Amino acid sequence: MKVLITGGAGFIGSNLTRYINNTFPDWEVRILDDLSTGYRENLTGLNAQFFEGSILDLDILAEAAASVDSIVHLAAIPSVPRSVAAPRPTHDANSTGTLNVLESARASGINQVIVASSSSVYGSNPALPKSEFDWTRPMSPYAVSKQATEGYPLAYNFSYGMQNLAFRFFNVYGPGQAAGHAYAAVIPQFLDAALSDAPLLVHGDGLQSRDFTFVGTVCAVITTAIAEGTHSNDPVNLAFNTNTTLLQLISEMETLLGHAVTKTHQETRVGDVRASQSDGVRVRQLFPAVEPVSLTSGLEQTLTWFKDTQTEAAESA
Ligand code: NAD
Repeated sequence: MKVLITGGAGFIGSNLTRYINNTFPDWEVRILDDLSTGYRENLTGLNAQFFEGSILDLDILAEAAASVDSIVHLAAIPSVPRSVAAPRPTHDANSTGTLNVLESARASGINQVIVASSSSVYGSNPALPKSEFDWTRPMSPYAVSKQATEGYPLAYNFSYGMQNLAFRFFNVYGPGQAAGHAYAAVIPQFLDAALSDAPLLVHGDGLQSRDFTFVGTVCAVITTAIAEGTHSNDPVNLAFNTNTTLLQLISEMETLLGHAVTKTHQETRVGDVRASQSDGVRVRQLFPAVEPVSLTSGLEQTLTWFKDTQTEAAESA
């Protein structure tokens, strides 16, 4: 099996490459990444052929996609606040970029493209927990671009007989997710602050909730989808019906750390949704063998990675 992972130098892409290397060592993995939010260091130790470039460059995309069996399309500008600050680059990378990936798949006769959409497409829909058949109403340019990311491949199933699959990720976290930049996700931000004895910055009252999904679970689902050729004409929520508020998350972290942390509340961010939870039904139907990693276990693995990274940084300083 030959697989191209766009965005493979990023958080989820590098974890996915490692997971595939370990699970199916005979699979050939290629990565196409422009290193805009990903890191060259993430590629260390991975068995993959690296193409440095953008999905907006049709030549390198065609080269990377030539003769692969499946594409996992993760490349994107993955941030709500970045899209609110500058909608056009998000549209270019996420919407036009997805169209480019599908066109290169079609040109190369690749039947399966698996894409990363987002729970943010539900936007202002208050229904909880969410099923894939609930209406979507994006609240940010990022969420609109993710609607295009899932809409194109599913339309290609009907238009061109492809066998694509669109996952809606819900707050994926785990080892390798960077903190320390303006658009960092909440778990790495909190762990980084807690380990540096800095206050945890909570937007709003902290009662906003998320269906946090461990990256190892995401990798297991995607790898199974490639191995089994799973496809669907409807999107699939990649989350398992959990509901954790930021305050509960902080309390879990305090238990793992063995001490209390300080927190500072800030104003709510534009475009952020109040609650996000999947009903977990379709993902369990399609991938019955995948057992999701619990929040406690996932946080423990993530905390260990953060501590190891801090130790390595201190030793090389
Ligand atoms: P990430 O920023 O770590 O990875 C994205 C990767 O895409 C980076 O390596 C970046 O350099 C690369 N990239 C960006 N623009 C590119 C371009 N034009 N050409 C080639 N490469 C490009 O983010 P992540 O958390 O690993 O997210 C992966 C995917 O999952 C994204 O599509 C994101 O929108 C989606 N997603 C993530 C989450 C989450 O919780 N992490 C939630 C919902 C959706």
